[in-house]
Amino acid sequence: MRIEDAKLVNLSRRSVKLRRIALAIIVALIIMQLAGCGDKEPRRYSTSFLGAFDTAITLIGYSDSQRDFDKYAELAEDRFLELHQIFDRYNAYEGVNNIYTLNHSGSERPVKVSADLIDMLEQSVIWQKESAGAVNIALGSVLEIWHDYRAEALADPSSARIPDREVLEAAAEHTSIDDLIIDKDAGTVYLADPDLKLDLGAVAKGYATEIVTRELREAGWDSFIISSGGNVRTTAAPPVGERKTWNIGIQDPEAALEGLDDELLFTLQLIEKSVVTSGDYQRYYLYEGRRYHHIVDPSTLEPASTFASVTVVTEDSGLADFLSTTLFIMPYEEGLAYIQLLGDVEAAWVFTDGTIEMTDGLRDMIIDREG
Ligand code: ADP
Ligand code: MG
Repeated sequence: MRIEDAKLVNLSRRSVKLRRIALAIIVALIIMQLAGCGDKEPRRYSTSFLGAFDTAITLIGYSDSQRDFDKYAELAEDRFLELHQIFDRYNAYEGVNNIYTLNHSGSERPVKVSADLIDMLEQSVIWQKESAGAVNIALGSVLEIWHDYRAEALADPSSARIPDREVLEAAAEHTSIDDLIIDKDAGTVYLADPDLKLDLGAVAKGYATEIVTRELREAGWDSFIISSGGNVRTTAAPPVGERKTWNIGIQDPEAALEGLDDELLFTLQLIEKSVVTSGDYQRYYLYEGRRYHHIVDPSTLEPASTFASVTVVTEDSGLADFLSTTLFIMPYEEGLAYIQLLGDVEAAWVFTDGTIEMTDGLRDMIIDREG
């Protein structure tokens, strides 16, 4: 997924006429400004930073000054880095009880964790119970096996192999969400199965993006977008310029496999929505001509194989992230029925053979480039 920067997407004759009218309005506005009767217009600023959620996080938004923008950007970066540490399953950090801590000592005694982590775990459990558990945050033992095999194969492709069935099945014995014991009042988490491992990879980035969005709004900012890997959160429409929506390009998964990252399937016009794509084309390894990627179907214990990508649009970025991984695993009809039940969720499914299905609501968000 990427953010479109094309300023003009519609070149029809009607738009030429509209542009003349727009030009007249702009000239009038400039005259008003010169006469001292207009307010200072907000301007568009952007920045990117690394270090959180293994991806570049980009912030674009409208502010009255660079100083204002920098203040919001600093708030966002600090918070993303903090949330990254809390949700990280692979690294320990001094003074932080995170997913790594829980996976290593959460079965010895209840571990005190931050309110952000308690809320995140509780919310994920609710979502996964509602959706019958295609995404299971307690699947860590199984995911870890695939993760290690992928890391090995990427380090030395000639040694690529796949895990034995028995090894996967033994790990799957330790994936019951009921063994995750959350005590909200005490602020603790306990794992009743010592071999259970938590993995928040399917939802953490989107969940963190939603928290940061909320906090930026509380700090007084209202027109910006946050793009973190395949997750984009948009807020109020740009207050100035020709565009009255945020335009977000959705990558073509087949082209992306060939390294053509700029090839788009379509571009969505969004306001106050999140759009998240889960795909099989970014984190994978090859073994005997087959691609083994990072989204695992708990019913087969193998990488899900129906889709090349699934894109979800809904307001909450955490839910969008959770659902994009869920729909990537669920059969198409089941996924469609599920989001229809939820309401206010749109989706596009790209099958591995290139076929595309999408909800009518999503089709309505696509920019018609011919029009
Ligand atoms: P990305 O991390 O590329 O944005 P996703 O949001 O789809 O993609 O999440 C993929 C991650 O979710 C994996 O790297 C893994 O950590 C985790 N994961 C994969 N399959 C499952 C599953 N069935 N249940 C829970 N988590 C999963
Ligand atoms: Mg996800």
